[in-house]
Amino acid sequence: MPIILDGKKLAKKIREELKKEVDEFTSKGLRNPTLAVILVGNDPASEVYVKNKRKACDEVGIKSLYIHLVEDTPEEELLRIINKLNNDEDVDAILVQLPLPKHINTQKVISSISPEKDVDGFHPENVGKLATGMKDVIVPCTPLGIWILLKEYNIDTFKKDVVVVGASNIVGKPMSLLFLRNEEAPVSVCHRNTKDLKHYTQNADILIVAVGKPNLITSDMVKNGVVVVDVGINRLEDGRLVGDVDFENVKEKAFAITPVPGGVGPMTVASLLVNTVSIYRQKFGYPKHPLTEV
Ligand code: NAP
Repeated sequence: MPIILDGKKLAKKIREELKKEVDEFTSKGLRNPTLAVILVGNDPASEVYVKNKRKACDEVGIKSLYIHLVEDTPEEELLRIINKLNNDEDVDAILVQLPLPKHINTQKVISSISPEKDVDGFHPENVGKLATGMKDVIVPCTPLGIWILLKEYNIDTFKKDVVVVGASNIVGKPMSLLFLRNEEAPVSVCHRNTKDLKHYTQNADILIVAVGKPNLITSDMVKNGVVVVDVGINRLEDGRLVGDVDFENVKEKAFAITPVPGGVGPMTVASLLVNTVSIYRQKFGYPKHPLTEV
């Protein structure tokens, strides 16, 4: 049986620890950490994500300031609100839920968030810091969550062949940069135009898949002893939630594997909390949160 990389369990432990930490800060007279969450429109999936993030904030004592804007909110209005939050001393972190409606320029919006408050780590300044190995970086939540999960289970990543499937700005690219930045391990990044995906996946010691296609990775595509991290979230017609990996068959060959649900998803939310508390700590003169050390 492979090791099941239990993100749900670890995320709960992290939330409990963060709650203690926040209680300690507030008992010293500090205000609660504060995260502003902006949602534009009524995308049902985004509404669920935002609800889960805010619930997790509540649990650990992070105040979440919810700004829900109508679908046709002009870009200038959104930029004006972000500017106000950037200048608000009582707001530590800002999250703009993606995707944004088509009429809004996402990159412009992300770039308008103050890099110090950019809790998702998508601002070009944070992306640059991640790429160049700078320490005061905010790492995007999903890659950070995966990193914390691998370390918690003592997965040896040093000099391992890492393959990341999917090259989005949110998951695939920052994930690969995390491995590259310390010259920890060589990384291959595969995407839609990879000619022979199996050629790469078969050689992976650590395989991270973030595409959004059920059963993209089947057992013939992996080698024995592989560590598999399945980021994908796919809702099947019968209502089941599955990842991108054929879990039942791939697990037979894996040394360790994340389940879906209960793997990367809860770690993404836990990392959002960790990043928020980390920004708050630094604002009040404390070192960044140890879990953000990458
Ligand atoms: P995305 O922006 O759609 O990116 C998917 C990536 O996969 C793109 O680089 C895409 O290339 C590539 N791709 C598409 N088809 C491929 C194929 N057949 N072989 C190899 N690569 C292919 O999605 P994302 O935001 O990174 O999310 C990926 C998945 O993870 C989704 O299921 C999403 O719901 C899930 N997710 C989960 C979490 C979590 O916390 N568990 C967090 C974020 C995302 P093109 O750009 O050329 O299409």
